[in-house]
Amino acid sequence: MHVIYGGTFDPIHHGHLRLALEVADALRVERVDLVPCHIPPHRGSTGATSAQRLEMIRLAVEGESRLRVDDRELQRAGASYTADTLRQLRQELGPKRPLVMVVGTDAFASFDQWREWQEIPELAHIIVVRRPGSTLPEASLAKGLLEARRAERPEDLWQTPAGRILSFDAPLLDISATGIRERISGGHSPRYLLPDSVLQRIHEQGLYGACPD
Ligand code: ATP
Repeated sequence: MHVIYGGTFDPIHHGHLRLALEVADALRVERVDLVPCHIPPHRGSTGATSAQRLEMIRLAVEGESRLRVDDRELQRAGASYTADTLRQLRQELGPKRPLVMVVGTDAFASFDQWREWQEIPELAHIIVVRRPGSTLPEASLAKGLLEARRAERPEDLWQTPAGRILSFDAPLLDISATGIRERISGGHSPRYLLPDSVLQRIHEQGLYGACPD
């Protein structure tokens, strides 16, 4: 089984890292790949560059063999779509190996706006992680899809290569990258919300309005 967890990771924090390990434990897999996505330029100039986000993820997973970075979306010029990434992975893995992508409820709520969303369940299973303060709207396409394709237990995802959706209730940490960026730009410390190595890098490089060391 191959498990990917995508996000902007701007910056990566303990909410992401803890969740990735919870998923690895629940699925009994040896590894989860973190896949940082390209950020469109209009997202604003306060964020870190792709290279800086990648470097922060590398620092965060150092010494943790169950977490790895897959930088394929940053290698491509321009935006990458989840469907493209999954298609590429499916080619590499062959038709039989289960492929799983992890998303938060906030991201999955707008699933019907993702490019080629109909293709996605053909390519992979989806784990939808409940996030504090975010639920799927009743009568939404995302909710309907979850009901129609629901996997009852993590083990069910081992039985087919793709097509099931698991709603996953991990013990969650109410941490967001936005909250971390806001603390930094407001002159407050986000310490203990993210790894010290990542925070040190943020200061060294003066990211998110931090005072450079
Ligand atoms: P931002 O605040 O900048 O939107 P974020 O903290 O939500 O960032 P992302 O990189 O956008 O981080 O998140 C990647 C994925 O991880 C998304 O699917 C999101 O729902 C999920 N996620 C982020 N933070 C948490 C958390 N604390 N607990 C569970 N899931 C999370």
